[in-house]
Amino acid sequence: MTAHARPGPGPRRRTVLTGTFAAGAAVLLPFVAPDRARAASGPVIADCATWGARPPSSPVNLLPTPPQKIIVHHTADPNVTDYSQAHAFELARSMQAYQLDVEKWTDTGQHFTISRGAYVMEGRHGSLAALTAGTRQVESAHCTGQNTVAIGIENEGTYSTVDPRGVQYAALVDLCELVCRQYGLPAYQIYGHRDFNSTLCPGDRLYALLPQLRQDVAARIGGDPTPPLWPVLSSGADGEGVRTLQLLLNARGAALTADGDYGPSTEAAVYAFQDAEHATPDGVAGLQTWNQLAAPARQGDSGTAVEALQLQLTAHGIPTDTDGDFGPGTRTNVTRFQTTRSLPADGVVDARTWSRLVA
Ligand SMILES: [Zn+2]
Repeated sequence: MTAHARPGPGPRRRTVLTGTFAAGAAVLLPFVAPDRARAASGPVIADCATWGARPPSSPVNLLPTPPQKIIVHHTADPNVTDYSQAHAFELARSMQAYQLDVEKWTDTGQHFTISRGAYVMEGRHGSLAALTAGTRQVESAHCTGQNTVAIGIENEGTYSTVDPRGVQYAALVDLCELVCRQYGLPAYQIYGHRDFNSTLCPGDRLYALLPQLRQDVAARIGGDPTPPLWPVLSSGADGEGVRTLQLLLNARGAALTADGDYGPSTEAAVYAFQDAEHATPDGVAGLQTWNQLAAPARQGDSGTAVEALQLQLTAHGIPTDTDGDFGPGTRTNVTRFQTTRSLPADGVVDARTWSRLVA
């Protein structure tokens, strides 16, 4: 389910905030590495206590792993003209109340929320502490299939036909920069919700701003902001890309013969996978399907996804044993492939390296 999957806001209870309460916004200061400390300090992020969150309904799950990406949402709420902090905090309480009481979730779905007045707030409890640590994340509920690997940012408003306000967009850039720095993420790993699930979120206009957002973040943290470009494979296709698709589906529970032919059984497996991950069910392996399938692979990993990687390296003229174990030899060959494609030669097969392998 998605964090913003809720009906129109209806009348929101207005609360008069006390001075102490409203002034207590937490400032996130520390960057984890000395080279990161040169950056301007991150945005002011109001933690759950500051905006008056209720306790989670059950313990929040703190994962031992850092996120791999950022996913941008809009709340699909009206584009209000109340830009106050009081309204921002009321928004955070209203979203949490809906998600606790109606959705019956543990807590707020997303990790962070940005109001139209550009106030940045913690969503699910623990998100801010995890971000500060830079090594862990809180399991979330903002994007089916991505809730253990992606930081979710909700932007108040509906951005189908209008852009977010300039100050709100600026706060989004600041927050993305901070998340990228803290977790060591590249700017190209910033996505929109519709890159994974069947949804209009984050609206056509905010979605169209994502290339700019990646560029603006990359201008601050460095790196190439170009996101992965995936082939579109469908019934009747064949080749190594199809075999990779079959093996990645097998790594997620399918039982396909990895023959490189996109026949009826492969199409059925794609449908089933799309259905399970709330992607658009069209039986075609395109953007959403690849984005959902392409989990990073690195030294120490094993299984059919590694097998797919080794077959791809061999197909690209870098002979690699197909043993399904990502050992030092496979790592060396990954760096060789990355060098030939002018990718950072880090030996980790992330979404961009996967996309170049199957292109
Ligand atoms: Zn969304």
